[in-house]
Amino acid sequence: MSVDILAIAAHRDDVELTCAGTLIKAAALGRKTAIVDLTAGEMGSKGDARSRATEAEKAAAIMKVSARENLGLPDAGIVNTPETREIVARVIRRFKPRVVIAPARQGRHPDHRVTAELVRDACFIAGLAKVAPDVPKHRPLKVVHCISFRQDFEKPTFVVDISAEFEQKLEAIRCFESQFGGATQAGEVYPNGEPLYDAIRHYSAHYGSMIRTKYGEPFFTTETMRVDDVAALEVSTF
Ligand SMILES: [Zn+2]
Repeated sequence: MSVDILAIAAHRDDVELTCAGTLIKAAALGRKTAIVDLTAGEMGSKGDARSRATEAEKAAAIMKVSARENLGLPDAGIVNTPETREIVARVIRRFKPRVVIAPARQGRHPDHRVTAELVRDACFIAGLAKVAPDVPKHRPLKVVHCISFRQDFEKPTFVVDISAEFEQKLEAIRCFESQFGGATQAGEVYPNGEPLYDAIRHYSAHYGSMIRTKYGEPFFTTETMRVDDVAALEVSTF
């Protein structure tokens, strides 16, 4: 199995909140996508691991990913160690992604912050032949961090236009009814008093406005984006 994009997140609803529109759009463009969730969500305040597994399956079908796996690392206890790096590197080698989507490098929840670093390090380690030598090495070309809902000032490197995919993204999020039913806050989404689904719509509209479109999902890369034709640049300054 080889995928174009592999999204790796700490918890089962993280991908839906941060990059579902991007995955849905990629699948529509003919890209092969997959999701790896690091934990089963056993420490969540609402619902339990089993109901979240069923919800994650439903959401995966809406996002049209080719696979969704769970690594069963300890929820609220993710650490970045040689052992966990090897666990994540092995799954990266199995999926052989060109691009990996990781969480934002800062976060309210320590699992999000640690996962960002763990995923990045595991992508590097996956390219070292002498680590877990029983599996052929594979290093993804690129790691991009999804930074939806982050309020630390970090200007997105790029925003994906998800105007056409936004309602499906919301549908994927709504699969996690055990988490979000009646909620005004989830994950990194700070509450403004409105129902969670409305808050997500407003955030997405804000990111969309950054590229002069209805809805968007923001990403950050440490490396600079390349441009060949300056005359073809998009997004109006005015
Ligand atoms: Zn999370």
